[in-house]
Parts: sequence; C-alpha cells; structure tokens
Amino acid sequence: MGKEIVIFGGSFNPPHKGHRSAVKAAAKLLQPDRLLIIPDAIPPHKDLAPGSPSPRQRLALCRLCFGDIPNVEISDLELKRGGKSYTVDTLETLRAQTPEAHFTLLVGTDMLLTLERWHRAEDLFRLASIRAFPRENGDLKEMERKAAALREQYGADVAVLDLPPLPAASTGIRSALAEGEGVELLTGRVYGAIVRQRLYRVRVNLPWLRKKAYAMLRPRRIPHVAGCEEEAVRLAKRWGADEFDAAVAAILHDCTKKENLEQQRSLCKRYRVHVDEQEWNSEKLLHAKTGAALAEHRFGASPAVASAIRWHTTGRAGMSLLEKIIYMADYMEPTRDFPGVERLRELAYQDLDEAMILGLEMSLEEVRRWGGVSHPNSVEALEELKAQRMAH
Ligand code: ATP
Repeated sequence: MGKEIVIFGGSFNPPHKGHRSAVKAAAKLLQPDRLLIIPDAIPPHKDLAPGSPSPRQRLALCRLCFGDIPNVEISDLELKRGGKSYTVDTLETLRAQTPEAHFTLLVGTDMLLTLERWHRAEDLFRLASIRAFPRENGDLKEMERKAAALREQYGADVAVLDLPPLPAASTGIRSALAEGEGVELLTGRVYGAIVRQRLYRVRVNLPWLRKKAYAMLRPRRIPHVAGCEEEAVRLAKRWGADEFDAAVAAILHDCTKKENLEQQRSLCKRYRVHVDEQEWNSEKLLHAKTGAALAEHRFGASPAVASAIRWHTTGRAGMSLLEKIIYMADYMEPTRDFPGVERLRELAYQDLDEAMILGLEMSLEEVRRWGGVSHPNSVEALEELKAQRMAH
C-alpha cells in the first residue's frame, strides 16, 4: 500500500491553537506517514491583511506552532512556487514526487463550504480525499449536508471528522494582538516570536510579560519590580507620559540584574552593546545596558522603552520624560525604604525635575560614600537639570 500523506494548507496568519488542535487530532485519527503543513504564498480565496508578515515569517511561525508534532513537516513548496497558491497545483506537484501515495486534504468548516468554488475543484477531488473538521460547535449539520452534496455531485471522497472544535480565527487574533489580547489562542513560542519581531502591531500582553520578566529575576527582587511598575504608571499618569510604555519599561528594567559580570559582558557582545570602560567593569552599570538590549531583542520593546531601561541607573543629559519616570520609579517605589525616600516621593509628584536633581544628588553621594567613582552620565544629568533650573 502507498503512503498516506495528509496536507493542511492555509495562510496561517498567524497559526493558532485551533490549527494546532485540528492537526494533532487529525494526526491521531488518520495516522498518516507524513502530515504536511503548507503555508501559502498568496492565498487565492482571500487577501492577506495589509501589513501581514512575509510568507517566510509565516512559515517560521508554522515551524514554531507545529514543529514538535510527530510526522509533521512544514513545507515551503507553495512559497517557492510563488504566485497564487492553488491547492490543485500543490497536489499535482506532490503526486508527481510520490505517485504511489494517497493524499488527504484537511480543511475546516469555512473551506469545506466553499470547496467547489476552488480553482479546478473537480481535479482536486480526483487527486485527494477531503477530511473536514468543525471550527465551532454546531457546524456539523451543515458540514454533513455539504459533504453529502459533494459526494453526490462530484463523486468526491469527502467525510466530516467529528472532532471537538477549538474556536479561533487568525483574523480575530490579529485584532486582539493589537489590543494586548489573544495570547491564550497562540502557543507560547508563536506568541513569543510575534512579540519579539513586533508582528501584527502587537501590544504586548502585560500579564504575559510580567510572567516572563519575573522568571528572570531572583524571587526577592519581584516585589521591587512590581512596585516599580505601580509607581511608574502612577507617575506617567501624573506627568502625561504613556502609561503602557511606563509599565513595560518598569517590568523589564531589571531583567538582566541577576546576571554576573561575565554574563553581562557576553550579553554586550551578543547584542553589540557599546559601553565605556567604567561600565564594562561594573555589573550594576551593565545591567541597564544589557536589560535594554534584551528588552529590544527578546521582547520587541520600542526605542523609547529601551532607552528608559538603558538610562535607569545613571540617568544622562537630555533625558526624556519616560526616562525620568523610570529613573524615579526605580528609586522611590513603595518597597524602597531609606532616609529621604519620603521627600523624594513627595517631590516626584510636585516637580519631577526637582525630584531628579535630589535623586541624582543622593545617588552620587551614595557612590562617594562607598568609595566608588560617579559615572559622568549622572554628573552631566545633574548639571544639566540644575542649569535648566537656574535659567528659569
Ligand atoms: P481567517 O481568520 O482569515 O479565516 P483562519 O483562522 O481560518 O484565518 P487559515 O490559515 O485561513 O486561518 O486556515 C487554514 C485552515 O485551517 C483552513 O482549512 C481553516 O478552515 C482551518 N482552520 C482555521 N481555524 C480553525 C480552527 N479554529 N479549527 C479548525 N480548523 C481551523
């Protein structure tokens, strides 16, 4: 007997848990020798949403979504062929490659209902069996009716698989992603890649980000980071900065704090972070730089957010509002307890620059007390803020 090859095609824009659950269930039921996931180059039935990732990026997302399922292969056949991806052309290519194989095409409800309008549908019915699964509860009846009609009219081998549906659709997920939602409908690896590459105008889901960031911290640092987020959002509200950016920067600001000097340095090399000699020799100074790099490269942080993380330890001349907010929030968040913190807290809501001046003075004083060398960026930040005060 020839091999059984099952094909599951689509735009996978992005691939989601509905796709994955259908593939897993079909693989279990049909026990194919090979199950090919084939992302299209250009979908023939519907236009790709504007701003969609490239076909290669969708292919990479498919690898992350399905790559671990036994016997599943992610095929670039339609990508390589280019143009409109007609399934009948794909089947002809595959049949020419493996003439002895039997082919089964997997489709969801919507595809089954429109199958006979597909390009050269009658040829398609000759080349492959069709197995359809429901996308929503209540789909079965209409699907059975359609399958019977296709069998009767075309002699097609069409059957409906009564699998439990997992309702999800790429279109809805794309809009959800832009609103900070949709995370539960994607696998962790797919969501992580979307965030990292900033696909679909994703607004990172904050509970997801907290979970990731907290896992990178020593447990005792978590209350500080949570406090920093709370304070940063409050300050952003007070001073009219972007509250979401403030939350993201605060959540990630210490994400490399746990790493030792050697690890910090290797992060600098990996992400091509340029630092001066003083920073190169200080774990404390480096964590701000490497934290910013990781925020950008792993969590798709915007330049404004990355910059707020980069300068949260030393400050610098010409700080943005968000940079000041993260600097201050880190300093005076609710779990901080040191002489003078109350004054800092008061000032931060009355006059942010005055609070920055006090914060920088206190921090430079502390460095002096333990015999360290002040970083020029802190000195410049302080001088600039003071000069601006004098000018007013
Ligand atoms: P859209 O939101 O644009 O309709 P989609 O979620 O249907 O996207 P596609 O890549 O177009 O994703 O679908 C590929 C295949 O997966 C189609 O056969 C489709 O019917 C099927 N499919 C999509 N979502 C599900 C789901 N939740 N359960 C089972 N099959 C699904």
